[in-house]
Amino acid sequence: MSSKPSRPSSRALLISGLVTVLVGAWLPASAQGARIYTLRLPVLVMHHVKWDKPGDDVTERGLTIHPTQFRQELTFLSSHRYHTVSAARVIRVLAHGGRLPGRPVVLSFDDGYADMYRTVYPALRARHMTATFFICPGLLGKPRYMNWGQVRTMARHGMDIEAHTLTHPDLTAVTPAQARNEIAGSRAALRRRLHVPVTVFAYPYGAFNAAILGDVRRAGYLAAFTTQQGWRLSRASRYALPRVYIDRDDSLTQFAARLSGNLQVVEQDPT
Ligand SMILES: [Zn+2]
Repeated sequence: MSSKPSRPSSRALLISGLVTVLVGAWLPASAQGARIYTLRLPVLVMHHVKWDKPGDDVTERGLTIHPTQFRQELTFLSSHRYHTVSAARVIRVLAHGGRLPGRPVVLSFDDGYADMYRTVYPALRARHMTATFFICPGLLGKPRYMNWGQVRTMARHGMDIEAHTLTHPDLTAVTPAQARNEIAGSRAALRRRLHVPVTVFAYPYGAFNAAILGDVRRAGYLAAFTTQQGWRLSRASRYALPRVYIDRDDSLTQFAARLSGNLQVVEQDPT
């Protein structure tokens, strides 16, 4: 689940400047003495890592990163001493405290497309990296998607498998009962079939409202990610955590800016 080295000194953490741990009074009186954690780190979000095909439409191309670019970005992470950590691990630190490696970064991939197993997983394994995959169990085995066996293999080899609803609806556009089924059902299916905890959720299209947020919490998730752009993960906002969109045309300089959060032009990803 983690990359090496996993035990940097606290001094190294401070020097990295990427993790900020704040202590404050934030809970009801019954929980006084507990600590609030605000982490600053990039949670990158990607969808496809593959070559373009002639039939790919504008949306598909907008969600696609070429394998060469992807591998260059992984090499950049290694050579600049970034350490990949899973979203589940970040959420555990956010909830309970603890340490992350220096220069932590989460690589997250939405939807569970076939190129995850074909391209992303081998590239991560070769570099001893991990990532979080937000999966829709109802889509596994369909054309263009991974199958259960592939997801199971990734889970057994250190990849973090989390939920992204059963069938990828806009949760704000379906009935409350359907939304609850999509949210709770995806967690149940992944837990049952893979025997993994499933503690993190990602909203399809980044779409949610207060009722849906409540459904996610009651379904047993500890946190949820949107597609809003940001680098600050706060425990108080753990059901609406931001991520950082990676663009297919990014230069390595732009990629570095996205990691650090120093990007001048902030783009929003609608998907
Ligand atoms: Zn999605």
